[in-house]
Amino acid sequence: MTETPPISMHSEVLRVWGYDTLRPMQQQAIECGIELRDCLTVLPTGGGKSLCYQVPPLLTKKATIVVSPLIALMRDQVRGLELLGYKAAAMHSGIEHDEATDIAKQLLTGDLDLVFAAPERVVTPQFKTLIGLLCDHDRLGNIAVDEAHCISQWGHDFRPEYRRISELRKVAPNVAMQAFTATATPRVRNDIINQLGLRDPEIMVGVFDRPNLTYRVQARENTAEQIQYAVERHRSSGDGGGTIVYCLSRKDTEKVADELRALGLDADAYHAGLDVSTRHNIEQAFSNETLDVVVATVAFGMGIDRSNVRLVVHACMPKSIEAYQQETGRAGRDGLAAECLLLYSPSDGGRWERLIERSAGETGTDPTAQIQLVRDMRRFVASFSCRHAFLSEHFGQEYTPPEGKTGCGACDVCLGETAAEEDAKRIGQIILSAVARTGERFGAAHICDVVRGGKSEKIRGYGHDELGVHGLLEHRRRAEVMSFIDQLVAAGALTRVVEDRFETLAFGECGISVMKGIDSVTLAKPIGTGSEKSERNRRTRASRVNDDRPMNDRERALFEKLRELRKQIATEGGFPPYLVFNDATLREMVHAMPTTRHEMLGVKGIGQAKLDAYGEDFLAAITGTVEQAENTNG
Ligand code: ADP
Ligand code: ZN
Repeated sequence: MTETPPISMHSEVLRVWGYDTLRPMQQQAIECGIELRDCLTVLPTGGGKSLCYQVPPLLTKKATIVVSPLIALMRDQVRGLELLGYKAAAMHSGIEHDEATDIAKQLLTGDLDLVFAAPERVVTPQFKTLIGLLCDHDRLGNIAVDEAHCISQWGHDFRPEYRRISELRKVAPNVAMQAFTATATPRVRNDIINQLGLRDPEIMVGVFDRPNLTYRVQARENTAEQIQYAVERHRSSGDGGGTIVYCLSRKDTEKVADELRALGLDADAYHAGLDVSTRHNIEQAFSNETLDVVVATVAFGMGIDRSNVRLVVHACMPKSIEAYQQETGRAGRDGLAAECLLLYSPSDGGRWERLIERSAGETGTDPTAQIQLVRDMRRFVASFSCRHAFLSEHFGQEYTPPEGKTGCGACDVCLGETAAEEDAKRIGQIILSAVARTGERFGAAHICDVVRGGKSEKIRGYGHDELGVHGLLEHRRRAEVMSFIDQLVAAGALTRVVEDRFETLAFGECGISVMKGIDSVTLAKPIGTGSEKSERNRRTRASRVNDDRPMNDRERALFEKLRELRKQIATEGGFPPYLVFNDATLREMVHAMPTTRHEMLGVKGIGQAKLDAYGEDFLAAITGTVEQAENTNG
């Protein structure tokens, strides 16, 4: 799927970044930047948006200004570029006046190729003057707007200050503007184009599927133990990366972190209620790989760029597929295999809908759109069809399984971790007739009680204990029955109706025919928690996508040694380890075992500047190992 870029672009990308191929869409987006044309690039998190705005200045010899809300990341981004020998700087409220003047001078003299700036900064009179000057001297090529969905109320992260960015068009009418985002809905896309005033923009939408991620959805039974199990599974396979656990509330993060610590994991809670320095310390520790498990609210992640997150757990169903895609997007950014585990309880959906309705009631807004997003997510968890296919289709893209396979090989359903319920037909009929007999006026919890033979006052009061369906599923666990109800909703046999804040079940399109046994539904029950067999499958499959085959003992020892070296260099330099080399590059070193500078340059992710800076150290570490191995063998 990768393409060979034209020679000059190609040679720059290879020389500076050490990448021999560009990802889908990267080439087109870079071409727009070089030709100074407006464009909108939609790539999923980890898709490689940064390269799209970083490459053009090297070829046009004109600077790019990158508008970004991620001030916390700017320092590391600049640092990372400097390590590549790339001339970049950042302008935000945290820098001194003198420093800002220096940056302006360097932009004018052509000593800087790229400057990151906060949205509120770029619309100040001083900054506009600077942009005017740069234009007069023909020094400015592009203005890149990162996280461009922040401009839209329909996005998940609206920031009013983004609305003013379009003012720059008046100051710099001849400068091209390029927008980047990971949010793909057409509404947000149109908003971006209109609000920024993009001119005849080229629109590029990348592939949303992330083949290196394995998706699992499991009934939430014992959160901490389920998480521990998954963490250990990754640890024992030598992945050695980070884990992020997302919870709905601050209280939940504390509770789960406590439980994980009690189980012997080194975990910290993170949420917006902690003071700034505590939060900063946790972010640092996670980036620097001294802390591997963070239990957080969704506030965590905006300031985090660690590329070797191997596991993202949702301890509760997220509120939309968009949010899920973004949060799971933080796993496996280095392209190596990673897992996304969603622990859900059928009550999660209702909890979200109530929260949304309450807040809509307070602000007087219409909750319909948000509720629809929750419903889509409920369908995702309940559908027991291929997760990769479901997600791709949600983003309007057809999913094609890897060659020669019928399933994706990287989700609980395709890995055979869910089993079909043999009794599906009868169960469907029982639940549907319970809904019919009770007059389509009750919610899932009550219907569940009825078929499980509950004797509560409510049941007796309505005489529901006298119905023929009462108790027909009494041997089924409550969670199971609730999941069946969810699946019937996902299949269209039932629908949820909200009235007076109460959610009731009614017949869906195919309800009657399922109840009469004309149509059949497939129901599934979740089993197991990632058996060893499926784990092996996952790895074999992922290894076709990337150099990610399991390491033997010698390789693992070398990998650890190189990670240690990376950490040491990073600590001395005062920046996070992933800025030295990411895990994918280290793995390639382990497998290729380069022994010369030239061979080292052949490893993906090693460009000229990094070869000069760290090549000798890593070669020494590798050849040390080679000699050791030869001595042992000889
Ligand atoms: P995004 O901003 O879209 O979330 P990034 O720009 O941070 O993604 O890129 C994600 C990861 O992919 C980074 O580790 C980056 O080094 C890597 N990457 C980007 N482009 C390529 C490429 N052409 N070949 C290999 N790795 C790449
Ligand atoms: Zn699948």
